[in-house]
Amino acid sequence: MRRPKKIPLRTCVGCRTILAKSMLVRVVRKPDGTVTVDATGKLSGRGAYLCRSQQCLEEALKRKSLERALQSDLDRDVVDQLLLDMQQMD
Ligand SMILES: [Zn+2]
Repeated sequence: MRRPKKIPLRTCVGCRTILAKSMLVRVVRKPDGTVTVDATGKLSGRGAYLCRSQQCLEEALKRKSLERALQSDLDRDVVDQLLLDMQQMD
């Protein structure tokens, strides 16, 4: 049985909505421990997905779901950088 090409789906760690991977921003904790927005989707490390929205990032931080997904504590300056990076993607 052949199925049509599957669209990769991921869950936003902020609002828990399941969306096509391409609609989401990947945040990654690189092997050196830095947390950054992965604009290419190709960085290695532990990743988490978020909608391109500040609300979802703030929600994920409030619930600690981003930190849980990345298994890393996030400093406020890291968070501010993530917000900046996400804004620049649009
Ligand atoms: Zn979301």
